[in-house]
Amino acid sequence: MLLNIPNLERDKILAPFTTYKIGGPADLFVEVHTVDELVHALSEASRNRIPFFLLGCGANILVTDKGFRGLVIRNRANKITFLDNGKVLAESGAIVDDLIEQSKNFGLSGFEHFVDIPSTVGGAMWQNLHFLSPDRKRTVFIEEIVQTSRILTEEGQFRTVGVDYFQYGYDTSILQVRKDIVLEVTFQLSPKPKEEILQVIDANLAWRRAKQPLLAEFPSCGSVFKKIEGVGAGRLIEQAGLKGKRIGRAEVSPKHANFIVNMGNAKASDVLDLIKYVQDEVKRKLGYMLETEITVVGEA
Ligand SMILES: Cc1cc2nc3c(=O)[nH]c(=O)nc-3n(C[C@H](O)[C@H](O)[C@H](O)COP(=O)(O)OP(=O)(O)OC[C@H]3O[C@@H](n4cnc5c(N)ncnc54)[C@H](O)[C@@H]3O)c2cc1C
Repeated sequence: MLLNIPNLERDKILAPFTTYKIGGPADLFVEVHTVDELVHALSEASRNRIPFFLLGCGANILVTDKGFRGLVIRNRANKITFLDNGKVLAESGAIVDDLIEQSKNFGLSGFEHFVDIPSTVGGAMWQNLHFLSPDRKRTVFIEEIVQTSRILTEEGQFRTVGVDYFQYGYDTSILQVRKDIVLEVTFQLSPKPKEEILQVIDANLAWRRAKQPLLAEFPSCGSVFKKIEGVGAGRLIEQAGLKGKRIGRAEVSPKHANFIVNMGNAKASDVLDLIKYVQDEVKRKLGYMLETEITVVGEA
């Protein structure tokens, strides 16, 4: 195998690069800092027929204990450029919290709803990042501010596509079906007084702190199970009496039942066993089948 990638590392433990702080080694690992480096790493993987995984903040994945057989590319291509008329161009490794901070300072609204959600632009595009609107009456999705995106298609072509290309739904997009890679996104923001943007940020931060376990204290990947319209996965888990249930060092959060948290040194197998236990108990007691929204990455 002749991978011509500078700064390539071997047997790199992935846990520190995930919000769960869980996961074994990647055979090969590289951090890319520009779109050109990203494209180069992808084309090397494809030329050598090596399986690859593109990693953002690692906030919506669970890496297995055995790790990943192939190349993990950690995307740190994070340039942000403010253009005219409220448009902002972000590379796909840009961090959403950085976009919030910078657009707030320009008096531009659109990103603030997603404050404190660990995400790169690429990860946000992959699952249509979302949060409740300020009046809590609807869900705000990232798709609402996406204008165009430059992608590398799974066939190896560069294309600039509009928002419709992504076929967005709740937690879904075409990126979960096709192995296209988002390189850059142009967002359309709207002018708003900085104070009003700050109000949304403060209210959302307070909401998250009141309702969700703090990531710094309880590593997690956010909600584990998909929303069930009108019922709520978290509510079902709570009704089944599973809050606080532990397997190994993984626990169903007593604060938010749809979060399974790492109590310190949890293995991926602890989380997977607890997921299965929750699914079985909710099915047995309440008749609903919970589906996972996180992606399990690596060798089983
Ligand atoms: C405490 C906590 C709270 C959360 N709250 C929310 C919430 O309120 N709302 C919400 O929507 N999510 C929430 N999440 C989930 C998570 O933050 C989002 O799914 C986020 O968008 C993941 O981004 P990432 O960069 O970490 O992606 P990763 O987890 O690194 O990757 C996720 C997927 O995206 C793919 N991907 C990454 N970059 C690209 C790219 N450039 N092109 C194509 N595919 C790509 C990866 O290959 C992978 O399949 C929460 C997570 C945590 C830990």
